[in-house]
Formats: sequence, structure tokens, C-alpha cells
Amino acid sequence: MHTFSTPSFSFFREDRRLLNILTIVVITALFYAVGAMLRLVEELSLFWPLNGVMAGVFARYVWLNRLHYYAVCYLTMLGLDALTTEWGTASLVINLSNMVFIVIVAMCVLRDKKRPNAAPGPLNALKLFAYCMVGAFFCGLLGAAGSVSFNSLTFFPLVADWFGEQFSTGVLIVPCILTLTWPRSLPVLSLRQVMPLVALIASMVASVTIGGAGSLAFPLPALIWCAIRYSLPATCLLTFVTGATEVILVANSIIDIAVGSPLETPQMFSARLGIATMAVCPVIVSTSVAAINSLMNQVSLRADYDYLTRVYSRSGLYEALQKRPFTTGQHMTVMLLDIDYFKNINDNYGHECGDQVLAAFAEEVRQAVGEHSMVARMGGEEFAVVVTTTEPLKGVHLAESVRQRIESCPFHWRNQTLFITVSIGVAKGRIGQGQSTSLFNQLLADADEFLYRSKKGGRNRISSRELVVDEAVSQATP
Ligand code: GH3
Ligand code: MG
Ligand code: MG
Repeated sequence: MHTFSTPSFSFFREDRRLLNILTIVVITALFYAVGAMLRLVEELSLFWPLNGVMAGVFARYVWLNRLHYYAVCYLTMLGLDALTTEWGTASLVINLSNMVFIVIVAMCVLRDKKRPNAAPGPLNALKLFAYCMVGAFFCGLLGAAGSVSFNSLTFFPLVADWFGEQFSTGVLIVPCILTLTWPRSLPVLSLRQVMPLVALIASMVASVTIGGAGSLAFPLPALIWCAIRYSLPATCLLTFVTGATEVILVANSIIDIAVGSPLETPQMFSARLGIATMAVCPVIVSTSVAAINSLMNQVSLRADYDYLTRVYSRSGLYEALQKRPFTTGQHMTVMLLDIDYFKNINDNYGHECGDQVLAAFAEEVRQAVGEHSMVARMGGEEFAVVVTTTEPLKGVHLAESVRQRIESCPFHWRNQTLFITVSIGVAKGRIGQGQSTSLFNQLLADADEFLYRSKKGGRNRISSRELVVDEAVSQATP
């Protein structure tokens, strides 16, 4: 139910109060205008996006939750009402009802954010659904009380109408505002990427063509497809556009849910609730998909890297070998390193010290071999290094420099300084056309054999076929 994407752009700045006030005024005026344009058709606006937008804004920026920022929003609405309506003092109550929705939804989302075990995602779709319902209910009560004097509807139908509009608009808009981000890159327009969008448009056309109450749910499968294929912000946006379009099409009888007979208020109320209920599904799917993807990344990261030493795990090394491009003709050197008498460190200083030494040892090796080499923990205190070089003996020399570096490196544990040594087996081969992993396996087996020789020869040394040949040559030379 959570996503880990972080909203990344902002018209607000914590330290710029004037800028924040100005932005609140501009956003309020902008979305007031959108709502007012749609209000021309009815006494109550068909679609009043302002409350959802502002609830999302206040919920997104924790530090905007100050009385004076809410007051700016309220006063802007009052001012605009004074300029564009004849509502007089009723405007005080009507806009207070708008603020009730904004404050309830923003406070509920913020309360969730502040919880100590809150997941780091910007959205919990199911909870948001409930918050919009509660906000819309209280907003509806107050809004109906404020507008009953000049509206043709009586109090309870007015509450229903007001509630239905606020609830559906909130469910559609608040997720968009909470997840809004600039796309990091332009979307790739492949057939695979475009198909869910095509399906969505086709389902909307089917809704208009077929009509009836069921037609409102036609876009749902396409929206869920979008949720699986697109990012959370894109899904929220598409859900909003689909829902808002449906509301407008139903209100203008272009989607004919009453089939033949004129559209009545209870049908509009039901349509709005239906659209809101439909809208929550793709958002839930999208947040779940984002959570699963993030979890999979974490799991594969855990599997690929050794938690203690932060170098590759054995399986991670194979993955990396498969992914890395190797140049034919270069030399691959595999070193197998085993810390000497490591059991003594555990026995004398404790397992915790052993762990620290392992982590510090891996870091030393990493630094010694450089970032282009691959270091992996093969198990226990045994590590492998894979180096590719153009010079055939460079890997062997590197192994010797690793040995020397470890020998002279002090490891600190509490107030004590420890020195350790390492035995290394080295094997090298020329990279051919075949798979790098099979060459690696073969070299690893050789390196293991030479590691055994290093241990047997007295430890703190390197052994390799090249050194054996060198020795034989120097012994044969008189
Ligand atoms: P040598 O290799 O020189 O023959 O002697 P050694 O003492 O290092 O012998 P060996 O390789 O058999 O022992 C490895 C020890 O490493 C045994 C085990 O207790 C310890 N060890 C393995 N994994 C860990 C670990 O994750 N943390 C700690 N602290 N110790 C570990
Ligand atoms: Mg050992
Ligand atoms: Mg060992």
C-alpha cells in the first residue's frame, strides 16, 4: 500500500513566508475559477477541485500547517466570493465548510505521516478514501446549512449533493497532489507503454456509446492496467482525468446512466460515489505495485551484497560477472583470500570483534584492488577478487600488494590494535569468446588449489602457477 517515491518539486519553501502566502492565494484563485466556471450550470458547482487541491497541498508540506496559511486560503475564497457571487454572509459558512474538508483531510494525512512506524511513502490510498469521506461529510453538513437559503434543494438532499461532490472530487484529486512529481525522463512511446492508455480511451468511448449505470465502471480494467504499467503519479493523474471526465459527461447526459429518462439528483449522487469507489482501486493497485517493486529491489540488493562487509555475495558476484562486458584477449585474474588464524581473533577478542575485522578487511581489499575490480565474500572469512588486465602478470602483482597492505594495516578494536595476515591463491586466464562465469569457475578452482599451497607453505603469502614457474626457472638457472 505504500510507495517510496519522493515528491520532488515545490512551489513552496519553508523559509519564504511571503512566497508561500502568494502561492496559496494564486492556487486558491486558480482552482476557485475552475470550480466557479462549472458552477454556472448549477447552484452547487459540478466539480469543485479547490478543496481537494488545498487539502493535498497542506498534507504534502508539513510546515504549511500554520493557522495563518489556512487563514490566507479562507480569506482568498471569501474575497473571490464577494467579487463573483451575491451570497453575502452565507459565504462565511460556505467557505468555512470548504476549510473543514481541507483541514480534516490534511490533518488526518499529517497524523499518519508523523506516526513513528509510518512507511516513507506519500500515500495510503485506502485511508485517504476514508479521510475524504469524513471530510466530505462534515463539509456537506456545514455547506448545506450555509447554502440552503438560496438553493432550490432542501437541507438533506443538499447535504447528499454536497457530500457526493466533495467526496468524489477529493478521492480523485488528493492522491494526485500528494504524488505529483516532475517526470525524471520523457516517457518512451513504445506500443507496450501506450496500450493501457489506448484501452482507457476505448473504455471511455464504450461508456459513452453503451451508457447505463454499469458504464461508469468500464474504464476500471484499463485503469488497473495503467496502474501496473505506469508510475504512481501518472496513475493518479489518469484516474483523476478519467473520473472528472465521467462526472462531467454524466452531468451533461453524454454518458446516459438514466437511459432515456432525465438525470435526477439521486442518480448523480450515486454516480459520484460509484466514480469515487472506482477511482480508489487503481491507486491502491499502483501503490501496491510500487511497494512490491521497492521490496524486490531491497531483496535483490540483500541477495547481491553481503550485509556485514558490503562487498558482493557469492551469488551477487555471478550476477555481476554476467552483466559486465569483458574484452576478449584481456586477462582475468581470480584471487582467493583467506584470513590467517581468524578463529583466534574470535576466540581472543570475541565474535563482535571478528565481525568488525571482517568488515574492515573487506574495505581494505576493496581499496587495494580499486573500483574496477570485483570483490566478493565467498563465505566465512574467505573472499574472492576478480581483476581484468591487459598485462598478464598485473593481477599477480596486485595480489602481492593486497597481501602487503593487509600485513601492515592496523585494525582497531576498542583500545587494542590488531594485525592480521592473509593467504592468497591466484589464478589467471585469457578471456575468450565463451562465458565469463565458466572461465571464472575454472580460475576459482585453480585459485583454491593455490590458496591451499599458501596455507601449507606457512601462510601470509601468495601462490600462483606463474610464481611456481618463476621459482622453477630460478632454481634451474645456475
Ligand atoms: P587458517 O585459515 O589460517 O587455517 O585459520 P582460521 O582460524 O582462519 O581457520 P578457518 O578458516 O577454518 O576458520 C574460520 C573461522 O572464521 C571460523 C569461524 O568461527 C570464523 N567465522 C566465519 N564467519 C564468520 C563471521 O561472519 N563472523 C565472525 N566473527 N567469524 C566468522
Ligand atoms: Mg582462515
Ligand atoms: Mg577459512
